[in-house]
Amino acid sequence: MKLKNKKNSGSFKKGHKVNLGKKLSEEHKRKISESNKGKTISDEIRKKISLANKGKKRSEEQKNKLKGRKFSEETLRKMSLARKGKKLSEKTKKKLSIINIGKRHSKETLIKLRETHLGQIPWCLGKNLSQEHRKKISIANTGKKHPHSEETKKKISEAQKGEKGNNWEKRGKNSNSYRNGLTPLYLQIRHCFKSQQFSYDCYIRDNYACQKCKERGGILCVHHIKSFSDIIEENNIKSLEEAEMCNELWDVRNGIVFCKEDHKVFHEIFGFRNNNKEQIEEFLKN
Ligand SMILES: [Zn+2]
Repeated sequence: MKLKNKKNSGSFKKGHKVNLGKKLSEEHKRKISESNKGKTISDEIRKKISLANKGKKRSEEQKNKLKGRKFSEETLRKMSLARKGKKLSEKTKKKLSIINIGKRHSKETLIKLRETHLGQIPWCLGKNLSQEHRKKISIANTGKKHPHSEETKKKISEAQKGEKGNNWEKRGKNSNSYRNGLTPLYLQIRHCFKSQQFSYDCYIRDNYACQKCKERGGILCVHHIKSFSDIIEENNIKSLEEAEMCNELWDVRNGIVFCKEDHKVFHEIFGFRNNNKEQIEEFLKN
C-alpha cells in the first residue's frame, strides 16, 4: 500500500496538535496582531470560531485578565456603535438579570442612567391612536384587567375577615403601624436618596415590568419582600441616618416590582405586616 506522504507534507495532518498548549512569546503575539490589523473576519469564519468555542470555559486566570481590562475611548465608542440597534434575546436578558441581582449602580452610573431616561416619552404618550385602534384596545381589555381567580378571591375574603374595613385605606395616622409618631420617620426613610436608588435598581433589574402579571410600564411600585417596618424594628432604627446605614433595608434582593393593582392584591391577601419571601413565592405561583 502506498502512503500518500506527498499530499500530507506541509499541510495540516490529522492527529497533529498545532500550537496546543504552546505559549507564544510577547514578540510573536505582537507580530500576529500587527499582521492581522485592518483585516476583517468573514461571517463564515466568525461562525466557525463561535462553534469551536462552544462549551469552552475560560480559566480563572483568563477571567481575571478580562476583568481588569480597560478599553480605550475609541474601542468603547466602537463597541457601543456595534451594539446599537441590536436587541437582546430573552435568554440574555434573563442571564443579565440574574447577574445583576444584588448589584448596586454607582452614583455616577445612576446619574448617567437618569440622564439617558430623562426626556424619554413612554410608549403610549404622544401616540395618536386612531378611533378604531382605541376601540380595539378597549374591547380587548374589557373584563380582562386582573381578574382574580376563585382561589384568590377566597384568600382575600379570608384575609379581610375580622378586619375593620379595608387595610388599604388605613394608612398614615390610621395605619396599624402608626405608633409613637413613627410614621413621619417611615415617610422620611421612604423618600430619601437611598430609597430612590433602591427603587431605581429594582426597576432596572425587573425591566420595568410587574413580576406578577409581567406587564411593562404603567404605575409600578417596588414591594419590600420582607416588610419595611419589620426591618426597621428588628434593626432598632430610630433615625434617617441609622436607616441609611442599614444594608438590609436597601438590598435589592428584598425588592420586587409589582403593578399597582397586583401590589394591592398582594396586601389584601397577606396583610401589611410580617411579609416574607414565602408569601411572594406563593403569590407568584398562582
Ligand atoms: Zn401586575
